Amino acid sequence: MTDLRVDTTHHAPHHCPSCRHVLDASTGVGREGPVVPAPGDVTLCAYCRTWLVYTDGLGLRPAEPDEVEQVDPTLRALVQQHLDAVDQLRPKH
Ligand SMILES: [Zn+2]
Repeated sequence: MTDLRVDTTHHAPHHCPSCRHVLDASTGVGREGPVVPAPGDVTLCAYCRTWLVYTDGLGLRPAEPDEVEQVDPTLRALVQQHLDAVDQLRPKH
């Protein structure tokens, strides 16, 4: 497998259009770096797991199913695994 990069970028806060949590950072996974969000990139909300797309100005909108299908399946699985690991670190209420 090709080496993958994981980079976290802090940016202006935006609300997830699905759960309304404030998202002010993005962790990207890619084959070339640095991995920073750009308009049209697909991402996953760390709170509600809704697939989203960055808009111009790095706002967020819900992703269309075909946009999620275009993401490399290996990268999609890695993002899900990363969020599962983050969930394990969150305090339980
Ligand atoms: Zn959300």
